[in-house]
Amino acid sequence: MRVDIISIFPDYFSPLDLSLIGKARGTGLLDLSVHDLRTWTSDVHRTVDDSPYGGGPGMVMRPEPWAAAFSAVASPSSLLVVPSPVGKPFTQADAAALAAQEHLVFACGRYEGIDQRVLDSAPMPVREVSLGDYVLFGGEVAVIVIMEAITRLLPGVLGNADSLTEESHSDGLLEAPVYTKPASWDGLDVPEVLRSGDHGKIARWRREQSLLRTATRRPDLFEAYPPEKIGKLDRAA
Ligand code: SAM
Repeated sequence: MRVDIISIFPDYFSPLDLSLIGKARGTGLLDLSVHDLRTWTSDVHRTVDDSPYGGGPGMVMRPEPWAAAFSAVASPSSLLVVPSPVGKPFTQADAAALAAQEHLVFACGRYEGIDQRVLDSAPMPVREVSLGDYVLFGGEVAVIVIMEAITRLLPGVLGNADSLTEESHSDGLLEAPVYTKPASWDGLDVPEVLRSGDHGKIARWRREQSLLRTATRRPDLFEAYPPEKIGKLDRAA
C-alpha cells in the first residue's frame, strides 16, 4: 500500500518509523512518504493560511498549496482522507475499507481547517473522517491513529492474523478480559476456566464475557449487534 501524508509539521510523523509500522515500511509492505505542504507555496514567507471570509477568529488554510500538493502526489484513483471534526466518525470497518485501498493521501488541516473549495473540487474521491466528538490542534495525530488502525490490517504485518479476528470491534463486540502469568498475583487469581485446558469451555467463557462487557460498557454496540447472531454463535460455542 502507498501512503502520502501532507502536513505543515512533517516532524510530527517520526513515530511512524517505530515498531510495527516502521517494520512494515522496512519490509516494503507499506510505502509511506511525508510531505511538507510549504513545498507547494510560492511566496517568500511560504504562506499557507489567511483570514476567514465572513469574519471570525483564527485562520483558514488557503486552497492553492493544497491543490498543487494533490497534483504532485495523487492521481484520480487515489483516495484523499481528510481528518476533520465534521467528518464521519472513524470505525474499525472504515479502517478495513482504507486498508483495502492501493493509495491513500492524507491532508492534515491546521488552524480553522482547509478552504472547503479544494476538497469539493479535488480530482479524486474525498473522505472526511473524525476521530471523535472533540477538537484537536491539527490532523497529524489523527493520521497517526488512522495509520495504526490501517497498518495492522495489512496482510503480513501481524505475525498471527488470528489476533485480528478475535479483537474488539472485529465482529461488533468488545473482547473478553485477558490475563498472563503469574496465575496468582497480589491476591488475585486468573479465572480457573482459562487454566482448564478445555478449549470449548474457554471459548464459551470468552464469548459470554465479550457479550457481557459489550452490554454493560457499550450498550450502543450491543443493541446494534444482530440478536440472531448471539443465539447462533452461543449454540456453536
Ligand atoms: N474549526 C474546526 C471546527 O470547528 O470544525 C476545527 C479545526 S481544528 C482546530 C484543526 C484541524 O485539526 C482540523 O482541520 C482537522 O484536521 C484536525 N482535527 C481536529 N479535531 C479533529 C477530530 N475530532 N478528528 C479528526 N481531525 C480533527
